[in-house]
Amino acid sequence: LNDELHTFASQPARTADGKMIEIAANIACSFEAPAAFEKGAEGIGLFRTEMLFMERSKAPDEDEQFGYYREALEVAADKPVIIRTIDIGGDKPIDYLNLPQENNPFLGYRAVRIYPEFLALFHTQLRAILRAAVHGNAKIMIPMIQSIEEIRWVKQQLEIVKEQLAQESLAFSAEVPLGIMVEIPSVAFIVDQFCKEVDFFSIGSNDMTQYLLAVDRDNASVAKLYNSLAPAFLRMLSQVVQTAHQHGRWVGLCGELGADAKVLPLLIGAGLDEISMSAPKITETKATLCKLNSEDCKTLFEQACQCPTIADVQTLLENAAANQE
Ligand code: PEP
Ligand code: MG
Repeated sequence: LNDELHTFASQPARTADGKMIEIAANIACSFEAPAAFEKGAEGIGLFRTEMLFMERSKAPDEDEQFGYYREALEVAADKPVIIRTIDIGGDKPIDYLNLPQENNPFLGYRAVRIYPEFLALFHTQLRAILRAAVHGNAKIMIPMIQSIEEIRWVKQQLEIVKEQLAQESLAFSAEVPLGIMVEIPSVAFIVDQFCKEVDFFSIGSNDMTQYLLAVDRDNASVAKLYNSLAPAFLRMLSQVVQTAHQHGRWVGLCGELGADAKVLPLLIGAGLDEISMSAPKITETKATLCKLNSEDCKTLFEQACQCPTIADVQTLLENAAANQE
């Protein structure tokens, strides 16, 4: 079996009927990248850069960050590397920023919301990414975007740092694609507007599930209510993918849901272009994928969207899996 899995690692991800879906890896630091590509990753779908800022006494400077991003891009060769700007605050505190204690940190001061106050920190990261982008296929992704104003502000900051870099005669890439995490439910209703601002989307199923269903992702007392198979979640997925595709934008998914083999038929059926997951799951996912028929997955997904309950979606998935065997 191990040999068989090994073959999948080296083959492109596609369904039995030949539909290609990019299977990418989530990483938290550049030294995780080689193992991800050995498992068959076709790109890095989420580089959680906040890990580089945590458990230390001050932020990494521009050159240190440049080194990490460049390393990941070089390991990836020409494959895409989606570098997500820092997602701190909420469940990811950082001592040296002295962020306030909050009653509802998940609804509070985190990610893109703190960038205007910590402008130098944000600019430093953008500069490091744009400089590193010369060495590979980099994309920038912004976490916790909620409004058009926020993404427009981010784009202004990108222009400002590009001008700085040009004036300093530093090598950088001016054409790095920009995307957003779709992890706040309101964004799902205005994807058409966001299509005018960004190049791609990645659904953060961890936060999207928490916010869509109003269930704290870390609270054991309500863990039973935390389930991404909720029909409302599936309809959200459907709406985001369809709208983005109508406007010629691609959509990935980078939360834990992507690593759940049972759910894969639904993610394929929804029409996602890319699924990013923790590296150890990649080979298995490619092996599962090649047994699926994309048209059957589409029908299954449409049926799941019409289910009244999570239990009905689960039964639908179990029956479909049993029919496959
Ligand atoms: C998510 O919210 O699904 C996600 C991928 O981001 P994080 O888990 O880092 O919040
Ligand atoms: Mg998130």
